[in-house]
Amino acid sequence: MSAAAPLASDTQSRAVAQAVSSRRQSEVTGRAHRRSTAPATSAQALLVTALGLFNESDDFDATLRETLTMVTTALDGRVGEIWLRDGQARDVELRYSSSDGTPDVAAFEAEGKALGVGAGPALVSRVVKTGRGSASASIDAGGRDSRAVMAAAADIHSALTFPIRGKGNVVGVLAIFRETTTRPDSAALEPMPAVCHHLGQFIERVRAETAIHEAAMELAALASTDALTGLKNRREFDRALRTIPRLPFAVLSLDVDGLKDINDSEGHAAGDALLRVVGHTLGLLVRGWDVMARIGGDEFAALLPEVGVFGAQLVAERMRVAMHALVLATGPVRITVGWSAAPAGADPLSVWQRADESLYQGKRAGGDRVAGSSYEGGEAADIAERSYSEVVTRILGGGSLSTVFQPIVSLDDGSVMGYEALARPEGFAAMDSVEPVFEAARIGGKIRDLDWVCRRRAVQDAALLPDGSTLFLNISAAALLDPVHSVDQLLLLLTSTGRAPESVVLEITEHERIRDYDVLAQVLAAYRAEGIRFALDDVGEGHSTLELLAASASEFLKLGRSLTMTSTKVGSRAAMDATMAFARVSGALVIAEGVENEFVADLMKAGGITLGQGFGIGKPTMAGDVEDVAAALADRAALSALRPRFAIAHSRN
Ligand code: C2E
Ligand code: MG
Ligand code: MG
Repeated sequence: MSAAAPLASDTQSRAVAQAVSSRRQSEVTGRAHRRSTAPATSAQALLVTALGLFNESDDFDATLRETLTMVTTALDGRVGEIWLRDGQARDVELRYSSSDGTPDVAAFEAEGKALGVGAGPALVSRVVKTGRGSASASIDAGGRDSRAVMAAAADIHSALTFPIRGKGNVVGVLAIFRETTTRPDSAALEPMPAVCHHLGQFIERVRAETAIHEAAMELAALASTDALTGLKNRREFDRALRTIPRLPFAVLSLDVDGLKDINDSEGHAAGDALLRVVGHTLGLLVRGWDVMARIGGDEFAALLPEVGVFGAQLVAERMRVAMHALVLATGPVRITVGWSAAPAGADPLSVWQRADESLYQGKRAGGDRVAGSSYEGGEAADIAERSYSEVVTRILGGGSLSTVFQPIVSLDDGSVMGYEALARPEGFAAMDSVEPVFEAARIGGKIRDLDWVCRRRAVQDAALLPDGSTLFLNISAAALLDPVHSVDQLLLLLTSTGRAPESVVLEITEHERIRDYDVLAQVLAAYRAEGIRFALDDVGEGHSTLELLAASASEFLKLGRSLTMTSTKVGSRAAMDATMAFARVSGALVIAEGVENEFVADLMKAGGITLGQGFGIGKPTMAGDVEDVAAALADRAALSALRPRFAIAHSRN
């Protein structure tokens, strides 16, 4: 057979079109092998159909498989194989095979696959080396080919080989193994050079496209990053704004105060060094899914999904204050931050513009400032301007309050073992922190009342959680020890909402020193008698003393986020180990808080912790949406080790 493949003529192209349409009509599947003696003309039509496939398809595997099946059938083969070359080396690998799947043939195929990447069988390597196929080589059971013996057992006695050529090079070999040793008739063989030629072109085209796509992805990553700070650049920020999902969000607009003076007096290198440090610091202050970008010159911007007025103000203030801690040769570092928080669906560019207006307002007022407003203005902006103690007063006066629920998840299999209820006063988004509100209540002596109002709301809102969910409720030690808020009061609340006390875990969020541990033990015993269990919140963050650990005999210990996040540091490691040791002795289960990503999840698992809670596993959401949280988990490749089973496991220990 001639090694050179003729180029497709116009006549052939027309034949392709005709064959494609006739193939569609006749629905030739070619999946099962027909050991037919089809007339040569129909064999030719089938083969030419392959050319249509190469022109139309982008599915590499499917096209090669389908072509192979058709060719094998048309040439009356028992087995068809495509061996592809790997780069410039002569190594080949059996990538596709097609057969009737009978056991003896399957053993022959498996032997070919087992060869992996290498020179391949003699009859294939010969084609790669010489660029020439063979029209009907008989297979000699005593020959060099390691599969020859198996071929005989599978009733295979001859092989047809064809080079698959790209631009000049052999990119692969098509081999058809047959029962008979007689040559197929010439009409069946005639289209083969054209088929192999176009197959080679197709392989090269798809490979080139893949390489271009990969290069483009690399370029895109480069094109989306600001070279100086490693943050996102202006283009990427614009893209993020355009593609923001339908969620409440906030935009921050930031500007480094006095950078121009530093550039003028100390030179641009000093200015760049300053920008780099500012950029790195800002990057550390946002969450993984926030977009922090350098927009140009001394301007930065952040896009914070699921953040409301309070969160925006808090993050902006945190950024401003963080600059005060930077020590640079050029002097103090100061920034001004403007923010705007908007409801889902607001126009992001207008929100950014609003943040910009606030920025310039802050600049005009002298810099080193935070200014902002709710995008809608009105009520939310009103709240932002009030102090946190006013938020407390408002809630206690009957103001609007809702609850979000965050899943507590098995780090082994991702199943949800319970939900923690977290209070969200009006103006707070699901991801905003209410820490300052509870702090204000503590300072103002209103923590017991706030605590109770939030718990009542939480138990009511928890009615929408999946049936049988365990509910983790926060309770301040002050409220727990207050005779006004007794176990009876909680039981009444549980009864009114149909929740069993056995499905409730009270998280003791201790921020004040407990004076009388005996009283605490008595109070806890009264709750436990009803089936209610306890968790010690934020262990390792300084509030939970050893005495409290011992006296509460909590069923769960929640390892505080500051420990979880720094678990690779020696000090944190020691505190974690001590907690684990205590848990082993007391029989408590440890829950790692603040699991923000898979890396932390792995660290916790390696440390023997089996339960986790954190934005990386499940964000706080409204009770009606928690099922979606679990579903999202299943899809998240980053957490592949944490595949949930969607089961709500009761933990009764
Ligand atoms: P907590 O009980 O330790 O609750 C966990 C806090 O960590 C929540 O903040 C939650 O949103 C946040 N969080 C969860 N996962 C992550 C993560 O991966 N990364 C980060 N950075 N944070 C994460 P939240 O809702 O702002 O609550 C703060 C604290 O306020 C709570 O800490 C709790 O002490 C108190 N609190 C919240 N709701 C209530 C309530 O209804 N009653 C009482 N008494 N206290 C509450
Ligand atoms: Mg808690
Ligand atoms: Mg906690």
